[in-house]
Amino acid sequence: MGLDSKIDLKAKFRGALLGSAVGDALGAPVEGYDMEMVRSVYGGEWEMIYGRYTDDTEMTIGVAESLIENKGFNGADMALKFIQNYNVKRGYGPGSKEVLRRIREGESLADASGKLFGGRGSYGNGAAMRIAPVGLFYFDTSDMLWEIAYKSSNITHSHELGKAGAALQALAVALAVRGQKEDMLLKLKEVVKTVMYTSKLGKLKALLDEGATKKRVISELGNGVVAFESVPTAIYSFLRSDNFKDSVVYAISLGGDTDTIGAMAGAISGAYYGEAAIPKAWLERLEDGEKGRSYIKKLAEDLCQIKLQLLQGRY
Ligand SMILES: [Mg+2]
Repeated sequence: MGLDSKIDLKAKFRGALLGSAVGDALGAPVEGYDMEMVRSVYGGEWEMIYGRYTDDTEMTIGVAESLIENKGFNGADMALKFIQNYNVKRGYGPGSKEVLRRIREGESLADASGKLFGGRGSYGNGAAMRIAPVGLFYFDTSDMLWEIAYKSSNITHSHELGKAGAALQALAVALAVRGQKEDMLLKLKEVVKTVMYTSKLGKLKALLDEGATKKRVISELGNGVVAFESVPTAIYSFLRSDNFKDSVVYAISLGGDTDTIGAMAGAISGAYYGEAAIPKAWLERLEDGEKGRSYIKKLAEDLCQIKLQLLQGRY
């Protein structure tokens, strides 16, 4: 695919990574709340409260760092980045915690994630929540994107539904970079192979067509911590909105796994609308210490730079 020169790739890369961090930080204070409780915290104002991001962003940073350093995917290095960045205070789920401990203690990458949940592996949304850099870096090549999404997910999530959910989220980010919103659902349906996600995408279309209530969206698509109850919900939040803010606010307003669904909706919307569409007040409030806002922005720029050089055949 030739690169459309009208696309401002850097603005979209920055939009996706900063948008994801902003969605994460906005959703974090209400994680696990139901719809009414979220409303009682945010009211109609939706002001960023703490601006502190969680494990979603910390792991997204690791994915971006590894893709940049290796000019592409390197599983062992990506796992190492996860371990180096790991901060227990960022609220990691029990599955990821255990896998990272196993890898740290010398277990092979191939084995570590497969041992979770009695050998079935995790189908949580922990791979999907961090996948945005893969969607950006492989935005022009769906086959590679799908393959790398699976491989990078497998570090912690070996269940098919966990990996397929992450690949779906990665492709949504890629399509957003390409500016394909109208035919996003169609394109997603073309590549999805699992019955679970085919069925979810079918429901998603019906809900968009009927202009469903939030209660219906929650019961049909979900707002939970498993990949198939959160990735379609994030995509829905993007597709039903026509700007960055509405998309992220809607995703979080549903309650449940608000930081992750907010992060995923923020990544897709940021990739589509670009950095300038993210409310300034939210960005300013986003933490900017070590590996904070400025660092994330720089990662997006470096990732974009390497992608552009690869497209120009410079490596
Ligand atoms: Mg989190």
